[in-house]
Amino acid sequence: MPDLDRIVREIAEEMAARTDRGDVATYIPELARADPNRFGIAVVSGEGEVVVGGDADMAFSIQSISKVFTLTLALGKIGNLLWKRVGREPSGSPFNSIVQLENEHGIPRNPFINAGAIAVTDVILSGHQPREALGEILRFLQFLAEDPAIGIDEAVAASEQRTGFRNRALANYMKSFGVLENPVDYTLGVYFHHCAIAMSCRQLAMAGRFLAHNGRNPATGFSVVSPERARRINAIMLTCGHYDGSGEFAYRVGLPGKSGVGGGILAVAPGRASIAVWSPGLDASGNSHLGRIALEELTRRLGWSIFG
Ligand code: GLN
Repeated sequence: MPDLDRIVREIAEEMAARTDRGDVATYIPELARADPNRFGIAVVSGEGEVVVGGDADMAFSIQSISKVFTLTLALGKIGNLLWKRVGREPSGSPFNSIVQLENEHGIPRNPFINAGAIAVTDVILSGHQPREALGEILRFLQFLAEDPAIGIDEAVAASEQRTGFRNRALANYMKSFGVLENPVDYTLGVYFHHCAIAMSCRQLAMAGRFLAHNGRNPATGFSVVSPERARRINAIMLTCGHYDGSGEFAYRVGLPGKSGVGGGILAVAPGRASIAVWSPGLDASGNSHLGRIALEELTRRLGWSIFG
């Protein structure tokens, strides 16, 4: 696609030239070391074409983007029973908010805020040792991205283990309502480590292909999830993937997407492509500032918004 090549190259150049970059996350000390001047983009089309720009092969901390894949695994494990443990409504609150847990008897609003993702991780962990559960999540990503080199940044995981007091509070609060089955420290250990998986834009865009193509890997035809499940995961990404910035992301970009405080965003253009962008500077909602702008430009220039 000559247009796609040109547009991705132009966007990478435009983003590199910008001086507004947002602020790198510092509440996880190890993430504060990220370079705000980085920008990467990768687009993988249904035909298998991979178009990249900027720092597309540099690994970064995927953080909450991992929650798309843990949701997929938990649905694979217990199906719709998952919705007894976590809701699927947007929260309109920050990613680490505790306020709604009290009203909803410890049931988190959705699987993409921290509380919800911790509950999802607990589902994956049940019946396994933490190491096995983490291995399953990591192998799933390696399989989807077709890259066995994907690993965990242990320094980031250790940094969050030391400082994740808010997540510990969320987990303890849910445990008090019986929403978590496993020891809180085990569940949090798996959660912190899957957030600390390091991937490049290229690897992430490869891993997201099944969501853009009715649950199938378009290269091999292999079915990862049913078309219905892919559609529903995309729906939750659209409504909840950017926390209290989800409405703004839908308004500006018009694609299902999931952000992480490492500055990455995975976006899905159904029937067209899987897209990953990365720039560590964040906006007030904890979403990549330039990542969002780059996606807005990409969908505008290609006419890829799902809203026509
Ligand atoms: N590991 C991070 C946390 O729990 C993930 C948050 C995010 O990426 N929004 O705070």
